[in-house]
Amino acid sequence: MGPARTRRRRLRSALAAAPPETDALDSAPDEVWLGLRDLGGRIDEQESEVLVGAVALAGWLRDAPFCPTCGGGTELRQAGWSRRCLVCAREHFPAPTRR
Ligand SMILES: [Zn+2]
Repeated sequence: MGPARTRRRRLRSALAAAPPETDALDSAPDEVWLGLRDLGGRIDEQESEVLVGAVALAGWLRDAPFCPTCGGGTELRQAGWSRRCLVCAREHFPAPTRR
């Protein structure tokens, strides 16, 4: 078994063992959404970095729909890794996660 497969299996196990959040987003009855704190030390450093990056990107996609320069609307580009202002054409990127 390769290291990536082992990490995926450990992450699935950690997700299955974590208690569900009571204020979860709308989800199907068989889905459980967990916060970063629910996972705590159950995942290794590499999994944690990927998860924190994904949560940070999701937050940026949710919370930054307008251009910080002119306030214009934006469109997603590069599969969601950047936004382009529809008014001033500036390209915006999420802030890098810090260690
Ligand atoms: Zn703009």
